[in-house]
Amino acid sequence: MMSILPTDIQNIWHPFTQTYGSTPPLPIVKGEGLYLITENGDKIMDAVSSWWTSIHGHCHPYIAQKIGEQAATLDHVIFAGFTHPKAVELSVGLKKLLPQNFTKIFFSDDGSTSVEVAIKMALQFWHNQEKPKNRIIAFREAYHGDTFGAMAVGGRGSFNKAFESLLFEVDFIDAPLPGKEEGTLLQLQKAIGENTAAFIFEPLLLGTAGMQMYSVEVLEKMMALCAKAKVLTIADEVLTGFYRTGKCFATSNLKSGTDIICMSKGITGGTMALGVTACSQYIFDAFVSEDKFKTFFHGHSYTGNPIACAAACANIEILAEEKTLQNIANLCAQQKQWMEKFKNHPALIDARNIGTINAFEINTENGSSYFNTLRDDIYNFFLQKNILLRPLGNIIYVMPPYCITNEELKIIYTQIDLFLQTIKQH
Ligand SMILES: *Cc1c(COP(=O)(O)O)cnc(C)c1O
Repeated sequence: MMSILPTDIQNIWHPFTQTYGSTPPLPIVKGEGLYLITENGDKIMDAVSSWWTSIHGHCHPYIAQKIGEQAATLDHVIFAGFTHPKAVELSVGLKKLLPQNFTKIFFSDDGSTSVEVAIKMALQFWHNQEKPKNRIIAFREAYHGDTFGAMAVGGRGSFNKAFESLLFEVDFIDAPLPGKEEGTLLQLQKAIGENTAAFIFEPLLLGTAGMQMYSVEVLEKMMALCAKAKVLTIADEVLTGFYRTGKCFATSNLKSGTDIICMSKGITGGTMALGVTACSQYIFDAFVSEDKFKTFFHGHSYTGNPIACAAACANIEILAEEKTLQNIANLCAQQKQWMEKFKNHPALIDARNIGTINAFEINTENGSSYFNTLRDDIYNFFLQKNILLRPLGNIIYVMPPYCITNEELKIIYTQIDLFLQTIKQH
């Protein structure tokens, strides 16, 4: 069979990819649990769950079946003025998993749009009550997506340099990483002002910033400060949702709830694009009025798509199975053990674990030119061994689907060990 590659190279612009000097994309023709199968028949371990989405592994037969049934029954219907069984079923399933204060479910297309919806909800919540609050607090290192609003509440850096002058102003505070908790609490206190509408944050885990982790205790204190000042809290659980950090949501650990929560990535088990923003009843109530201008004027062509909702319903059923919960608990325990094993490795500055995720920060004291190529070196080293790891700079992270076996995990860590040995020689 002819490779699809020449036509790809001719026609397609890939995301987050500098075409100049880069190796061409790898054609994948099939997915099977942990594995991606290439055009040449190689089986690659997907140790990053294909950008953090594939929580049960690829082509889970039950999700595939439900998608097929739904595609043949009702593919799509406009969601303004209409509804359908799978959206309703999903709302019930999500409310069972979410903290109790979340009563309303709003659908969109992906993580970025779930964040856009959350920001607009929070701002219009105050606008509808004629309270002039329009400032948002966010973490300086945050990542919330690539659309404009999501970019604006994310950290400023090289990824959004070209748009910086057009991003709305945000009050940034440092994330409360270990040892910096008191500083963050002080910064939050100072940042909260009369005009503060909301605080948006990635709970317990800043993914794109390099799998940086912080404690439930400090998050709880931050939530208390916001509650006291009537600042709405928006938990961006696009990455952390659906058991990534061990519990169903990272904010499931909190005694106090948040006002708004964003979900995507794992919500369909990594099969269909879907975003969900859930909110508390009083937020919804601020939009219910005889005044038509208080309507939430937001929606996308594919809002509430039945096939995506069917995939999400199937995912929730799988997550309710004892076997899945056992797999998740086992993966968390295994990851923790592997993290402990590598913790004091001389090639590492830090090793950290949260739930199903491990991150290893490589010491790059050996000079900046080396640092520049390190990311590619890591990526290529593992890909040659048929393991997909996509490091964030000098940080290797392992975020496999929950179905990975202990033996498969061991294969990955054996190779990580070998890679770290090559580092020591530099
Ligand atoms: C990936 C991610 C997003 C953006 O989601 P997309 O589906 O890529 O638009 C937003 N927030 C967090 C925390 C993420 O990890």
